[in-house]
Amino acid sequence: MTRLVLASHNAHKLTELQRILGPLVPGIELVGYDGPEPVEDGVSFEENALIKARAAAAHTGLPAIADDSGIAVDILGGSPGIFSARWGGPARNDQANLDLLLWQLTDVADEHRAASFVCAAALVVPGSAGADPDEVVLRGVWNGRVLREASGAGGFGYDPIFQPEGETRSSAELSAAEKDALSHRTRAFTALAPEIASRL
Ligand code: IMP
Repeated sequence: MTRLVLASHNAHKLTELQRILGPLVPGIELVGYDGPEPVEDGVSFEENALIKARAAAAHTGLPAIADDSGIAVDILGGSPGIFSARWGGPARNDQANLDLLLWQLTDVADEHRAASFVCAAALVVPGSAGADPDEVVLRGVWNGRVLREASGAGGFGYDPIFQPEGETRSSAELSAAEKDALSHRTRAFTALAPEIASRL
């Protein structure tokens, strides 16, 4: 087994990524990370994912993966974007984030409510003997629109107000397996899987 560290303190994310990557990259063991968390001062999902993966790779000496994700609303020019987790204030509260976004879009007609969930997935493999690390970062996008009110109790974050393209339900009304099959995170890590396999 080759060990790969996931640069996240979130146990739920470890399980989710094990589920996605396990079948695609046989022979890897995904391990959690409890080292220092870097300041995420990048200006894109890709930069922030790389910042997290670099920190975990540097701290552990192991190959590391990380992701950075959020919701991008077309009429808001791609916001909340990288600020999704703290859109409603520094408390990083899912309900406050969602309420503010709904309120901002109150007068926006249905045909102008297009949005996407975006995930950047990064891989950083430490270089041997002081060489530069090998880095890859890829993006997964899940298109849809922002609903007028929250609906459904599954998922987290903006799921209750996101309706994926081709769906009549919000992503909080999809089963975990249905969301897994479609999500931005699945798309990003499915694209990253061959890059991981070819380097480890
Ligand atoms: P991260 O954990 O720094 O990547 O922040 C992601 C933020 O974007 C979360 O706090 C959520 O608000 C939002 N987000 C990312 N992925 C999803 C998703 O699958 N469903 C709902 N909200 C999401």
